[in-house]
Amino acid sequence: MKKILVTRRLLRSCEDRAKEMFDANLNLNDELYSQKKLIEMSQGCDGILSALTDKLDADTINQLPNSIKILSNFAVGFGNIDLEAAKNKGIAVTNTPDVLTDATAEIGVLLILGACRRASEGIEQARQGGWVWSADLLIGKQLTGTRLGILGMGRIGQKIAKVAKSLGMIIHYHNRSKLSEDKEQGAIYHDNLKGLLSVSDVLSVCCPASKETIDMINKDTIEYLPKGAVVTNVARGDIIEDEAMIDALNRRKVYAVGLDVYKNEPHLNKGYYKHKSAFILPHLGSATKETRTAMANLAIDNIDEFFKTGNCKNKVN
Ligand code: NAP
Repeated sequence: MKKILVTRRLLRSCEDRAKEMFDANLNLNDELYSQKKLIEMSQGCDGILSALTDKLDADTINQLPNSIKILSNFAVGFGNIDLEAAKNKGIAVTNTPDVLTDATAEIGVLLILGACRRASEGIEQARQGGWVWSADLLIGKQLTGTRLGILGMGRIGQKIAKVAKSLGMIIHYHNRSKLSEDKEQGAIYHDNLKGLLSVSDVLSVCCPASKETIDMINKDTIEYLPKGAVVTNVARGDIIEDEAMIDALNRRKVYAVGLDVYKNEPHLNKGYYKHKSAFILPHLGSATKETRTAMANLAIDNIDEFFKTGNCKNKVN
């Protein structure tokens, strides 16, 4: 039986399944392993079921025991793993695409609604009591007829586009490559970032974090947005330069932000605190029972497939 290290807690039924299929070393206290501890814990293991909180950089990967043959990441994103270093050491890296698309798109839509309709301020006022209805109480931005720019129209972006379209939004997108018409569903393609941002009354960031996309939304590119745009990010915090975004909020270039992810999680840049309109969540994209179960089972199946066949359909390196 192959031995695996599971670096974070999974839902109970998935941990039981991992134990049935492998000699699984579980992390029952859900401790956040340091890089040193992760290297220690992986001694004698054949694979690691990792999470996005594990920073598997080149230095860490190079110190993993040679017995490790697979890093099965419990996420569709794999910005926490140095793919090249893993490849050089002969370690396969896999992810969990598709199963989390719907749940993450739901949060993507929630960010758009929450930021545009001032949900944070509304919740605070309702909890405090004492608010008085008036014709101009917490006037927000209506979505109907508004242009939504999707940066990264992949699985999650396309699902957000579908829901947003049903709300009456006009969809624009930018990818490095244009989608087929059936995937576009009437959305308007921009072959460059500037083109997309200049028509984005609301921006939804849905692309992966990569060398190309880190800090893609920065002090220069923010200027392409229409004045009073709303910026949302359901992808990865590294894509937005926080200082530049906070500055844009301060001078009302940006009306509001909706963030499920941000740099240096869980430590939110304090500059966002004074913006009551900021609608910010603690990385909840895939957080439903159905989705977290499906993700863990897929991460387990990826390891199983890899050891049985020497390959895996969800291998990303
Ligand atoms: P996907 O299907 O691979 O879609 C990614 C899209 O981004 C593709 O359309 C791709 O098109 C585009 N893209 C990639 N690099 C780009 C670049 N440099 N410039 C412009 N567009 C670029 O991935 P997905 O399943 O939708 O997931 C997207 C991301 O969401 C993940 O990588 C993950 O980081 C994040 N995520 C977050 C949560 C959460 O909890 N908040 C949950 C799940 C996923 P081209 O290749 O044509 O450029």
